[in-house]
Amino acid sequence: MSNKVYAGIDLGGTKILAVLLDGDGALLTKSEVSTDAQEGSHAVIQRMIDLIHDCLNKIESAELASIGVATAGTLKADEGVVAYASNLGWTNVPLGKELAQAFGVPVNLENDANAAAYGEWAVGAGRGTQDCVYITVSTGIGAGIISGGKLIRGRDSSAGELGHITIDWNGSKCLCGNVGCLELYASGTSIGRRAGQLAAELPEEASLLKDKAAGAPINSRHVAEAAREGDALSLRILKEAGQALGAGMVSIIHSTNPELVIIGGGAASIGAPLFEPMHQAIADRAIGTMATGVKYASPLLGKDAGAIGAALLVNG
Ligand SMILES: [Zn+2]
Repeated sequence: MSNKVYAGIDLGGTKILAVLLDGDGALLTKSEVSTDAQEGSHAVIQRMIDLIHDCLNKIESAELASIGVATAGTLKADEGVVAYASNLGWTNVPLGKELAQAFGVPVNLENDANAAAYGEWAVGAGRGTQDCVYITVSTGIGAGIISGGKLIRGRDSSAGELGHITIDWNGSKCLCGNVGCLELYASGTSIGRRAGQLAAELPEEASLLKDKAAGAPINSRHVAEAAREGDALSLRILKEAGQALGAGMVSIIHSTNPELVIIGGGAASIGAPLFEPMHQAIADRAIGTMATGVKYASPLLGKDAGAIGAALLVNG
């Protein structure tokens, strides 16, 4: 008897993760290799093919039904083409066609943050909800929106770029071309950058931060560690970042009216020093009752969310 399985791949700039799910969305097996993007798209696609075969060989009588791929960059999802991915150095790579030819099954490409949002919603922390926003706060801020039980994809599968909503319309210039984007004030990168600025301006208040960094540039991990020891400057930096996150969350709540917000990513592990000012800003600023009923949760799928979501989205 054959065993229908659904493959999902998270194609990252550093690593490729493949998962196989059963028909109920349960994880059967997974495997990971280095992307080695400098070897070019043909080599990377061959590694993806080999990785799927590796996974299939681990499941008895596995019959592959479909492949979903989560990737950064801009997509022509209908054509199965990665239009541009700076982390891979790819322009117009027909990834979907090549995988479909190799396996003879339907292939779907998806924006990586949207795929992770869908995975967390379908089989992780968002299970059972209809309206859910997923946000990862790490080096940048990624997000995806589920509305009425459907992923909001938009015209080019790029919807949900909540890290680039404007929270300061006269603010700093962002790499995306906009100014004053949320991720310039509330991401892990921005926390480290702000700490470096303040340490230069207020050296007498930054001794613990400088000790933590030990000569290296101060990063968000140093700020989190110093804050846990009660360092006033670090707590101030996290309070500002949390308030910025709260200001962004108000716009997100106003535009999506969610039941649940899932917040993950490395910087989210900072916890209360970031989240208390965030919740205060939301309480102070959101319209009437829109924010009071919103629940908050941490993700459950970890690094597998993108690959799992991609596998589920082929038919989602
Ligand atoms: Zn931006």
